[in-house]
Amino acid sequence: MKKKNNLPVRILIALVAGIVVGLVCYFAGLADFTATYLKPFGDIFVNLLKFIVVPVVLLSMIDGILSMGDMKQVGSVGVKTVAYFLCTTAIACVIGLIFANIFMGAGLFPDLSAELGAAEYEPKAFNGFMSVLVDIFPSNMWGAFVNANMLQVIVVSLFFGGAIMMAGEKGKLCRDLVSSMYAVIEKLMEFVISLSPIGVFTYMAWVTATQGAAILGSLFLVILCAYIGYIVHAVLVYSLSAQVFVGMSPMKFFKGAFAAMIFAFTSTSSAATLPVSKECAHELGAKDDIAAFVLPLGSTINMDGTAIYQCVATVFIASCAGIHLTIGQMVIVVVTATLASIGTAGVSGAGMIMLAMVLETLGIPVAYIGLIVAVDRLFDMGRTCLNVTGDIACSLCVTKWQEKK
Ligand code: ASP
Repeated sequence: MKKKNNLPVRILIALVAGIVVGLVCYFAGLADFTATYLKPFGDIFVNLLKFIVVPVVLLSMIDGILSMGDMKQVGSVGVKTVAYFLCTTAIACVIGLIFANIFMGAGLFPDLSAELGAAEYEPKAFNGFMSVLVDIFPSNMWGAFVNANMLQVIVVSLFFGGAIMMAGEKGKLCRDLVSSMYAVIEKLMEFVISLSPIGVFTYMAWVTATQGAAILGSLFLVILCAYIGYIVHAVLVYSLSAQVFVGMSPMKFFKGAFAAMIFAFTSTSSAATLPVSKECAHELGAKDDIAAFVLPLGSTINMDGTAIYQCVATVFIASCAGIHLTIGQMVIVVVTATLASIGTAGVSGAGMIMLAMVLETLGIPVAYIGLIVAVDRLFDMGRTCLNVTGDIACSLCVTKWQEKK
């Protein structure tokens, strides 16, 4: 227990140490050293998290569904969760657009079309929302696990959770098996989480050493704009949610969510952060069965940071390409960025791939994404941090709403 409470402090120390070491390496020209010798340790840590994430989602969701007792309760939690996700993501888009327009209006987004001539980015094809819908339903259960396709794993969990519940007495063995396996995977999870300061330190040192030039460069302003959006959204939406719906002071909320936020910031993956988010939500008082349902779902469909990033990046890229978006086009940005963020996987860099879809919808040359690619990790750190914070806030709100009911 004592060890768990120490974790945020250890993570913070690792973060600061990582930045210091990264800066030293950056100015000493040792960026390659960090990429070759430090980053691999971060990779090992993220691999370990990814390795447990499928069983954690599968078992915790089934376990959560079973402990809710009846399907009506699952439905009511599901509706509240999705409503919270959609509202906050739409607000995130509006915040992103407001700040992007302020920056653009103030002439802070430069026209970089000359430098962008050699954009090399090749976006992945996006086949439309009906195909996304079809893809959510796996034709092969093992395929969903092997590919760590989180939406499919969630669907499998929902089906199995419901089926075990409906099987009644005969499903008891399965029920016990799930709770026993979940107890084991929780232990494994605790161990992997205790290693997180190593992951944070090595990744932070590598990012600072390799992206230092970009931070100081001309893209600083667009990154700053996105970060202002992230912070305003966190302060406005999550503080208010915590205060109004949960009756928790924003300070307490952010303190409790801190370990997950820092971990998301450095790992840039909501899915990989899931085990840490679960710990934080638990410590903050979210009911375990609700958190087990909300957090995995949130880590795949609730991406407020990604939505802000997509809006800011769209306005920035449009401005670089000499395109001025109309109010009607801004509305399309809100709708497509909300949908794109839902379709974004909770893994590093996924938001940038979905950005291509937003740009394509608006007819903005997708090749201009080439500008963002180099610094995407810097955007990604903040947006993942916000994504995960939103999931934790939602788990607390839904817990409170269910209690009231
Ligand atoms: N990295 C983000 C996440 O895992 C997704 C994104 O790229 O926007 O939450």
